[in-house]
Amino acid sequence: LEQELERLQDLPSRTQDGVNVPLYTNVGLIEEVALVASSGSGGIGLFRTELPFMLLDRFPSEQEQVKIYRQVLEAVAPLPVNLRTLDVGGDKPLPYLPIAESNPMLGWRGIRLMLDRPEIFLTQLRAALRANVGLENLRLLLPMVNGVTELEQALDLIARAHRQLLEEGIASSRPPTGLMIEVPSAVYQAEELARRVDFLSIGTNDLSQYLLAIDRGNPQVSNRLDPLHPAVLRALRQVVEAAGRTGKPVSVCGEMASNPACALLLVGLGIDSLSVNAAALPRVKWAVRSVDSQHLKSLATEALKLEKPEFVRQLLDTTLEVAG
Ligand code: PEP
Ligand code: MG
Repeated sequence: LEQELERLQDLPSRTQDGVNVPLYTNVGLIEEVALVASSGSGGIGLFRTELPFMLLDRFPSEQEQVKIYRQVLEAVAPLPVNLRTLDVGGDKPLPYLPIAESNPMLGWRGIRLMLDRPEIFLTQLRAALRANVGLENLRLLLPMVNGVTELEQALDLIARAHRQLLEEGIASSRPPTGLMIEVPSAVYQAEELARRVDFLSIGTNDLSQYLLAIDRGNPQVSNRLDPLHPAVLRALRQVVEAAGRTGKPVSVCGEMASNPACALLLVGLGIDSLSVNAAALPRVKWAVRSVDSQHLKSLATEALKLEKPEFVRQLLDTTLEVAG
């Protein structure tokens, strides 16, 4: 089986009836980047930039960040890198930015922290844009946005970083920019948000956490966190429909996409591409190649009618058995 999965590297991620489902890789540590280009991946769908920050004992300078991002962009060029701007706070504290709060998951984290501390955000944006000069495979991804106001503020800061660099004579370009849909309010404004960006990427880890009100980092309750909950599936469907009205593509970069059965359901729901863990990519590709897209559409229609996650899981299990 391992050999067969290896052979898959050079084959397209395409269903039996010829629908392409591009697969990308989630990356945190810089060491993981080397594997991307050789694994048959379409690029980096999610680069969690907070990881390199967490390994240091102070904020990296702009120049230090240019080096880190350049290394990543160069390693996979010309394939795209979706660089997610700093998503610290919550479950990802920085030792040198101590935050004491009783409810970190609802606290000072992600984009709201960056908007309150624009100098940190601008430094990162400037570094990313500088690293991209001459490569042009950078895409920016904004985490934890809860509505149009936050999105517009973040986009303004991206425009400002770009303007600054041009004024300094650096031939930087404005990268395609997308937004994570991972806060429930963003689901209900997905269309308005999508109109303002180039693409959407759904973070099913946080979206499930917030929809179900289950702290993903609390082992007392996190076993109850199920992305196959009907409410999560309906939210996904709603985002696909909203994005469809704007003509903007939607991907999923949460852990859910790394499970082959869930990945097939996501494709059936109309998700355009998936970003998965490096280790999961061959199996997800194998699953995509074994099925018919029309079959996945009816699978999703059936799944959306079910009232419990257990029933959805049963349906997926039977489908995968039939696919072999
Ligand atoms: C998510 O929330 O689904 C996601 C991909 O981001 P992270 O797991 O880094 O919060
Ligand atoms: Mg998240």
